[in-house]
Amino acid sequence: MKALRLNAWKSEPELEEIDQPQPGPGEVVIRVGGAGACHSDIHLMDEFEPGMMPWDPPFTLGHENAGWVHELGEGVRGLEIGQPVAVYGPWGCGTCARCRLGIETYCENLAEAPVPGGGGGLGLDGGMAEYMLIPDSRFLLPLPDGLEPAQAAALTDAGLTPYHAIKRSLHKLTPESYALVIGVGGLGHLGVQILAATSSASIIAVDMRQEALDLATEHGATQVFQPGDGTAEDIRKLTGGRGVDVVLDFVGADPTIALGAAVARQMGDLTIVGIGGGSFEFSFFSIPYEVSTQTTYWGTRPELAEVLALGARGEIATEVTEYALDEALQAYRDLKEGKIRGRAVVVPNRS
Ligand code: NAD
Ligand code: ZN
Ligand code: ZN
Repeated sequence: MKALRLNAWKSEPELEEIDQPQPGPGEVVIRVGGAGACHSDIHLMDEFEPGMMPWDPPFTLGHENAGWVHELGEGVRGLEIGQPVAVYGPWGCGTCARCRLGIETYCENLAEAPVPGGGGGLGLDGGMAEYMLIPDSRFLLPLPDGLEPAQAAALTDAGLTPYHAIKRSLHKLTPESYALVIGVGGLGHLGVQILAATSSASIIAVDMRQEALDLATEHGATQVFQPGDGTAEDIRKLTGGRGVDVVLDFVGADPTIALGAAVARQMGDLTIVGIGGGSFEFSFFSIPYEVSTQTTYWGTRPELAEVLALGARGEIATEVTEYALDEALQAYRDLKEGKIRGRAVVVPNRS
């Protein structure tokens, strides 16, 4: 079968012919119906170096996947051949206290995980291929009626990651509050929709690209800004001087973190999701009083079920820019150049 492989750090992936996976006991092979191209893969191929992760290439890219059950390994129960499924991407040990709650992002027994601190597309073979091996059936969530794999794929990361970040701040998103989304790409365009679907906050969006801001407006942002010198002041003015209750930074570069810190309301949340490598000086006076500042990583298995339910009900929908498997490398090139509307999704198979 064909697969888009990352063969070495700091290299472009290559489309290659590899063996179709076979499921061992407890494992499942899915026929991939959608594999999203996440900006983290760009960081991975351009910036990561040997020793940064507990795993190394080669592996097939694509950590945001959905498809149909193709073959069941011995002993797997509760799934049927042909059933549409989404893949929960962070693969932990399954038995530590965190994993038992479905928080496999923060598995504390990594030596027992399929790959320490990774998953399919992150150290093990991912979904930019015709078929994908899933090492345990608990990583597969049945798709609710109304959701196709090509549409659901991005919900497993570009949907789940903002959902997790927003959910931990929901109590601050009261009717008179403001939420700010910085970066309206794959994660951000779903972040705006999740805020609109789950909270009563007014939504502000910031992006350098006008097309991204148009997308934010379409999905519920009431004020949008291209970042410039006066943006922090403009946003503060918009909030009546108080500031933004919850800042979600889907870029994580120096200027976006600085913007978030400058506009946060006292007692607000500043959540950095983007892996843009930025930093800011933290001191008693560098952010307003009692602003909670945190990073977040992906989301939990129960949260993925919630995100899929919102998708099936049509309350959130990925804007899919579709690519064939043969064009997967082009999807990443276009993502890097800021040409994608919503999420680039590689579609290797159709129902
Ligand atoms: P994307 O390329 O689809 O979207 C990024 C958006 O940010 C684009 O619209 C771009 O125009 C905008 N942007 C870039 N620099 C900006 C700036 N200085 N000011 C304003 N807007 C700017 O990327 P994505 O796939 O949505 O990923 C976003 C980030 O989140 C990446 O760094 C990715 O690695 C990271 N990520 C983190 C997690 C996590 O669990 N923490 C999960 C997935 C992705
Ligand atoms: Zn990702
Ligand atoms: Zn664990």
